[in-house]
Amino acid sequence: MNLYYDFHIHTCLSPCGDEDMTPNNIVNMAIIKGLDVIAITDHNSAGNVKACMDAAKETELLVIPGMEVTTSEEIHAVVLFDNLDSLKTLEKLIYDSVPNVKNKPDIFGRQIFMDSEDNEVGEEEKLLITACGFDIFSLYKKVTELGGVIFPAHIDKSSFSILSNLGAIPRELKFRAVEIKNAQKCTEYALDYKVIHSSDAHYLWDISERENYISADGKSISDVLYKLQQKSTI
Ligand SMILES: [Zn+2]
Ligand SMILES: [Zn+2]
Repeated sequence: MNLYYDFHIHTCLSPCGDEDMTPNNIVNMAIIKGLDVIAITDHNSAGNVKACMDAAKETELLVIPGMEVTTSEEIHAVVLFDNLDSLKTLEKLIYDSVPNVKNKPDIFGRQIFMDSEDNEVGEEEKLLITACGFDIFSLYKKVTELGGVIFPAHIDKSSFSILSNLGAIPRELKFRAVEIKNAQKCTEYALDYKVIHSSDAHYLWDISERENYISADGKSISDVLYKLQQKSTI
């Protein structure tokens, strides 16, 4: 079955994420757009993932637990898991390795924790957008050990991407997928990788339309992640 997706969405926990990126707003917008599956991917934190999963509980929308990690080389990578516990294990390692720099909400934006009813339940004080202590190689290893899926984010971006920072995708990183924002760029990667087009939404209106799909055997998070790990193209 074809599942229309957006695997890269920020909530109001990301300092650059709009404060309207609340769990229910995201879930409802994804449903309005006709998506079947989304992933919540805040910078170096998974603090709003459960609230978003809970907000979608009575709906048909699948919410994949995820995170966008900033590696020590300042490469952004999307990590996805089929369960919250494994993501939380990774999150603790990542979070603890992020330098203890205090967020300046006036400059970077607030980092808001929410519950599943869109109530503010706290604010993250540590700045989440700095590089963590894991390089892309150790991050790849750890995510794989924990049973998750990892792929480099927006590889066509001129900063915070694996191509801009390393010049190429090292062969020892056995990614099955890459995320490309602009389909016209990096067309050669379609030969070796599943090409993911996600929104990297920081505002509600940026969430993807019903345009990109993945063909999975069933409508479950495991089915989607299984497909992302397979060698064949989508
Ligand atoms: Zn990014
Ligand atoms: Zn992002």
